Amino acid sequence: MKKPAGPSPLDPDTYYHIEVSHTPVTVDGIARGEPTGWICCGICHGRGRGIDDIDHNQVDGDRCRQAYAHTLYWRYQVLGAEWDEFESLISTNS
Ligand SMILES: [Zn+2]
Ligand SMILES: [Zn+2]
Repeated sequence: MKKPAGPSPLDPDTYYHIEVSHTPVTVDGIARGEPTGWICCGICHGRGRGIDDIDHNQVDGDRCRQAYAHTLYWRYQVLGAEWDEFESLISTNS
C-alpha cells in the first residue's frame, strides 16, 4: 500500500497546547491553572483527548489548516495499512 501522505502534528510549523483550567476547583474539579486533560489546537482552539482527535471544525463552517495533521500511527490505523510496513517506517525514522 502507498504511504498515506499528509502533514504531521509533529511538524515544527504546527501549534498545540495543553488546556488549563481558568475556573476554581469548585467549578470543574480542576484547580485554576492545572491541566484539564484536553489537547488544544493552537490555531482554532478546538480540543480533543489526543493530538489526532481534535475537532477542528470552526463555527463558521471552515476547518483550520491543522485539520489534516495526523500522526503516522493514526494514518495507518484509520486509513489502513499493513502493520509490517508501518513498523519498518518508524524503525527507519528513528
Ligand atoms: Zn485547529
Ligand atoms: Zn486553546
